[in-house]
Amino acid sequence: MTDTTNKTFKRYTVTSALPYANGPIHIGHLAGVYIPADIYVRFLRANRRDVLFIGGSDEHGVPITIRARKEGLTPQQVVDKYHGIIKKSFEELGISFDVYSRTSAPIHHETASAFFKKMYEQGDFIEKYSEQYYDVDAGHFLADRYITGTCPRCGNERAYGDQCENCGSTLSATELINPKSALSGNVPVMKETKHWFLPLDQYEPWLKEWILESHRDDWKTNVYGQCKSWLDSGLQPRAVTRDLDWGVKVPLDGAEGKVLYVWFDAPIGYISATREWSEQTGKDWVPYWKSADTKLVHFIGKDNIVFHCIIFPAMLQAEGTYILPDNVPANEFLNLEGDKISTSRNWAVWLHEYLVDFPGKQDVLRYTLAANAPETKDNDFTWKDFQARNNSELLAIFGNFVNRTLVLTHKYFGGEVPVLGEVNDYDRQTISEIAEFPGRIAASIEAYRFREALNEMMNLARLGNKYLTETEPWKNFATNPEKVKTTLNISLQICANLSIVCEPFLPFTSARLLEMLNTNLEPWAEAGSCTLLQAGHKLNPPAFLFDRIEDEPIAAQVKKLTDTKAENAAENSVIAEQKPEITYDDFTKLDMRTGTIIEAEKVPKTAKLLKLTIDTGIDKRTVVSGIAEHYTPEQVIGQKVVLLANLAPRNLKGIESKGMILMAENKEGKLCFVSPTEAFGNGSEVR
Ligand SMILES: [Zn+2]
Repeated sequence: MTDTTNKTFKRYTVTSALPYANGPIHIGHLAGVYIPADIYVRFLRANRRDVLFIGGSDEHGVPITIRARKEGLTPQQVVDKYHGIIKKSFEELGISFDVYSRTSAPIHHETASAFFKKMYEQGDFIEKYSEQYYDVDAGHFLADRYITGTCPRCGNERAYGDQCENCGSTLSATELINPKSALSGNVPVMKETKHWFLPLDQYEPWLKEWILESHRDDWKTNVYGQCKSWLDSGLQPRAVTRDLDWGVKVPLDGAEGKVLYVWFDAPIGYISATREWSEQTGKDWVPYWKSADTKLVHFIGKDNIVFHCIIFPAMLQAEGTYILPDNVPANEFLNLEGDKISTSRNWAVWLHEYLVDFPGKQDVLRYTLAANAPETKDNDFTWKDFQARNNSELLAIFGNFVNRTLVLTHKYFGGEVPVLGEVNDYDRQTISEIAEFPGRIAASIEAYRFREALNEMMNLARLGNKYLTETEPWKNFATNPEKVKTTLNISLQICANLSIVCEPFLPFTSARLLEMLNTNLEPWAEAGSCTLLQAGHKLNPPAFLFDRIEDEPIAAQVKKLTDTKAENAAENSVIAEQKPEITYDDFTKLDMRTGTIIEAEKVPKTAKLLKLTIDTGIDKRTVVSGIAEHYTPEQVIGQKVVLLANLAPRNLKGIESKGMILMAENKEGKLCFVSPTEAFGNGSEVR
């Protein structure tokens, strides 16, 4: 096989991003990482390449410990739960890992620990002391996520030490106003701590040479561009250790209570998984990571580019005995019905739920996600498109062609492959076109253009459909059965070709098709030939490859999402927290009285303000109130109100407002008056 870098490789090590084990897999992960990786790997296997496909769960890091605290579980219980769900759903979707491991496995702790130790002994780290928040009661340094406080940008009182979810700002824990420990609720103190740093700045010249010069032409432009921008803005040393008790322990004396930072240990997980595979199979793992004739490819999403293109390669380079990735075909993001997929907002289509809701339809999801893979820019998944991809493409083109061919063969020739007789120009042209497809599909897959490859695969089904429609065997059988033999022979050869070239994309469909054709999967090298099925070969009875997807299940999925949206809206408008305590003396300073609105008019050139005249029992005074979007002047005249009478006068749009009427506001932002429930004289005190 030729390669885009014109280098020949003896074997392939293909990794896919380790999913974080604090939630299940959704379609965004699949479209960005696992479907493209699986297509690539299946294609390599069809080409009889020596390939190892590695996956596993990323099980360390702070978010898992937070989820564990929230759910009253241990971190191990959390990762056990999600590792199980993730692994099972991948298997059911036909993601064909050679090994699916996990970073809480002992073999990973041992591998990551040894990797760190070797780098440490080589003097690859720098040691730095820094001040970090510490919870005295809990006896713990606090990860950024474990500190909450007021956002310095927007005033949100529940911002985290690394991020404010209200305004989206990235924060550092020291910026938070009124910081509090999430462990005890106490105010944390600053305490000195020691950490090991990878001096990325020292690798900058080498990385510039390796990425910006050597991979200018073969890495995807989105990947190359992101690397360039990181390198252009200059790299800084990065801590590789953390004060935390969940993770791979730092294997040094005096490093108690410290673990490897999750970004350091997770990519080493690929190596650990390979070692686990080696133990299971008895094969040598070393060449897959240390031989120059191995092609290493990382499939990831765009949020992982810096780790796989800059940090992990710097680690591999520093350690000194490993190969570097040949390519990192990272994808952009997949959106869902126009909105960003979000685990915390439950805005996602979860794989394990899909598999229950659409049994036997793994390939429909694989097809839709490959067709919409966000290869060059963010893309969108919609249920309408999913339905259309099934009904108008898989069913109407692929399924229909195969079904017509097999049904006619059974009807006219008792289910035996008829002989190829005399061929006319159209037959000859079709035969030569068939031969072109495998090479075109292969070229697209090798260049990591999976959408293009998928479309080419469907073009072969389109060719078959067109050929059958134009040769009309159902019309010709009565008058020219010999001709029909040739037509159906060629159509069956197209079916056999489809079973090979669709396999990387639609493995379940390929298996069903092979069953109907009563044959085995041939290697990719055989595709393009029109002698895959011999005359006289007995076929099995036809069955449908795809069913129509009706409107009802689609509407049910859309409703599920609409319900999620409504739930999110309700949750977002939470009841405001109680304000800080005040004394009774503070309260008695407020002079609140009943009153009646006797006049009302809109304040010109404003949307919100009404100018009210209120009979307070003491006087008749003007109050400007921001209720014009809720009430018309006519609606409020005669309304009984409670007035904060001794509020200092304020000038609003040139009108002096003396006091404020009290309104209640609900979660949806609706206002209502607060007023006496009986006829009560104006000026009665409220206390
Ligand atoms: Zn904020």
